[in-house]
Amino acid sequence: MKALLWTAPERIEWTDVPMPAPADGELLIKVHTVGVCGSDLEGYLGHNSLRKPPLLMGHEFSGTVEQVGSGGGFAPGQRVVVNPLSSCGRCRLCAQGLRQLCDRRCLIGIHRAGAYAEYVVVPSDNAVALPDGLPFETAALTEPLACSFRAARRAMAGHALADVAVVGAGAIGLLAAYSARIMGASAIYVIDVNEARLRTAERLGIGVPIDARGDVEREVKRLRGESGVDVVIDAAGFQPTRTLAASLVRTGGVIMNVGLGIDDTSVPINRFIRSEVDVKGSFCYADSDFQDALRLLADSKVSERGWTELRPLSAGADAFRELVSGRCPSGKILLQS
Ligand SMILES: [Zn+2]
Ligand SMILES: [Zn+2]
Repeated sequence: MKALLWTAPERIEWTDVPMPAPADGELLIKVHTVGVCGSDLEGYLGHNSLRKPPLLMGHEFSGTVEQVGSGGGFAPGQRVVVNPLSSCGRCRLCAQGLRQLCDRRCLIGIHRAGAYAEYVVVPSDNAVALPDGLPFETAALTEPLACSFRAARRAMAGHALADVAVVGAGAIGLLAAYSARIMGASAIYVIDVNEARLRTAERLGIGVPIDARGDVEREVKRLRGESGVDVVIDAAGFQPTRTLAASLVRTGGVIMNVGLGIDDTSVPINRFIRSEVDVKGSFCYADSDFQDALRLLADSKVSERGWTELRPLSAGADAFRELVSGRCPSGKILLQS
């Protein structure tokens, strides 16, 4: 089969690879749509320690069941979206429904072959049947939306009508803004340095765009008052965005960290103590978030239209080059085979 194989930092090629076969309890999926994730770009550049070449990446995907290993539970021809996360199923965290935190978690497209290929083998437990009428390209957003929805939901717990600032208007930030709007946020500000992304947020009607190259703190306080916002969702995760989050959050508010830009960061802990600011992290999604994300897409509450771009999987190498060079105007590329 043909596949988009990552072979070394900054090298990804459309090439022939062996066709995989499903073992017991697995499915062979004919990939229809697979999203390019920011973490795949980090992997491509060689900045992600979990991804080791040669690797077929691609963990945000939908497709059709082609072949069923024994005990697979699905039928050929069924349309599915795949939750890429597997876990041990036996530890305390798995028992609590927090499979994404399991020490033995494993992700399709990171720890095993993913969907940048015509076909991919997945454990049948990871496949979720698509509701009738939900297009494959919309369903491919289930995974990133599940990440963003979980982060926004946990940030807004206890702040039902929150003023929300989303820092970083890439796909995860935009989907977090969508999620905040769905959950009843009073005001949403979308902050980025990239004008095209800011215009996207404005066009989609999911937030007031604020250019991060200006004085963001002053602008937010001018729009919403001196005390700052209830919730800041940092979908970037760099020193400037974490410093900004600390300056925007009001006393008693929440900073939700979802962007994994860098690790060690200087932040004003004493202010967080004296102001009872909740600083949280959110990673991937629980099964319930994945189901909720799929429902939001099926109900047309969130859509890929207007901010994503469809391209053939065979042209994926160019997509990677454009995305890492910053020359790509669209918020997200969805590859189709
Ligand atoms: Zn992803
Ligand atoms: Zn576990």
